[in-house]
Amino acid sequence: MSDTTTVQLGDRTFTLDRDKAQEAFEAKKVINGRDTMFFNILPVKYQWAYDLYKTMKNNHWEPEDIPMQKDVEQWRSSEVSDVERWIIKMGIGYFSAAEGIVGDNIIHVVREVVTAPELKLVLGRHAHEENIHADSLVYMISSLGLNPHECEAMFEDVPTIKAKNHFVMSNSRSLRRDIDLTDTANKQALAKNIFLFGQVMEGTQFYGLFGMILSLYRQNKFPGIGQMFRYTLRDESNHIEVFRSLLNDLVTENPDIWTPEFQEELRETMREGIRLEKEFIRDCLPVSAVGLSAEEFEHYIDYIGDRRLVNCRLEPLNGSVSNPFPWLAETMDIKKEQNFFEGRVTEYQKAGALGQGVSDDEL
Ligand code: FE
Ligand code: MN
Repeated sequence: MSDTTTVQLGDRTFTLDRDKAQEAFEAKKVINGRDTMFFNILPVKYQWAYDLYKTMKNNHWEPEDIPMQKDVEQWRSSEVSDVERWIIKMGIGYFSAAEGIVGDNIIHVVREVVTAPELKLVLGRHAHEENIHADSLVYMISSLGLNPHECEAMFEDVPTIKAKNHFVMSNSRSLRRDIDLTDTANKQALAKNIFLFGQVMEGTQFYGLFGMILSLYRQNKFPGIGQMFRYTLRDESNHIEVFRSLLNDLVTENPDIWTPEFQEELRETMREGIRLEKEFIRDCLPVSAVGLSAEEFEHYIDYIGDRRLVNCRLEPLNGSVSNPFPWLAETMDIKKEQNFFEGRVTEYQKAGALGQGVSDDEL
């Protein structure tokens, strides 16, 4: 009888050859692991990646399931102000570019260089969710009857959007070559990319608009758009966690990355990301609207940025900022909702799909 070991994954059991399983397990690395043609998820080494993949899949949503009639009526009426319409336009304009940039970086940088299959699995799902988000913006544009060229022009015409996009794209492009990941400086470049995209962009620079659009949603303005952003934010909270765990395991396996100088470089990256986000917020809210001022949103960004740093074991930039929008956590708590899909039972909804809310930790 051969020497076997049993692996349990969810409700399934697998029997593996012990020596081969051990060998495969040890060959799994975030980077520089065994390169194999096979998608050998078993034995799972990065359990968090497999678990998050399942959570993300169970959160699946389709833009077309969200009714937009009310949004269309409000868009054309005097019920909403021009500033409120401007916030929606900035939201659609910014995210139309940003979702694609994030997905592109996963496919061409991060998923390319990681070697463990379960990491590639969760990154594939991550990229797919960016597609869903991009598609939800197409749905908003068509529902409201906006000129798509006008939205596209915003990437180039609004300097604060341009600056935010350039900030992340220049980093992503510089990593698109065969880099030698045994070299510490190159490992640090990858670690910085993972931090920049997960914690600074998705984790911080998305939150100014999330806060503004959900403030409108809270006042029953643009309920369909608000609903889509709630789903998007729930997805983003998982993306932040994917990239945080990835960074954490990368550093654990490659401690040469984590020098004091490098930690300081990441903090500086966050500082610059926050500066750009604050400028962008002032463009979104040239006058106080949605009952909130630009100052409050800037304060919120300081709070969020510090949370991201601390969660990556980095020193906060401000230290003692409190959350000015505790209600945002409540608005995000999707699991409390009963009539989520307006009573419509969708076939793709998996059991427990609505049980995955956003933890307070993410807001
Ligand atoms: Fe997204
Ligand atoms: Mn994302």
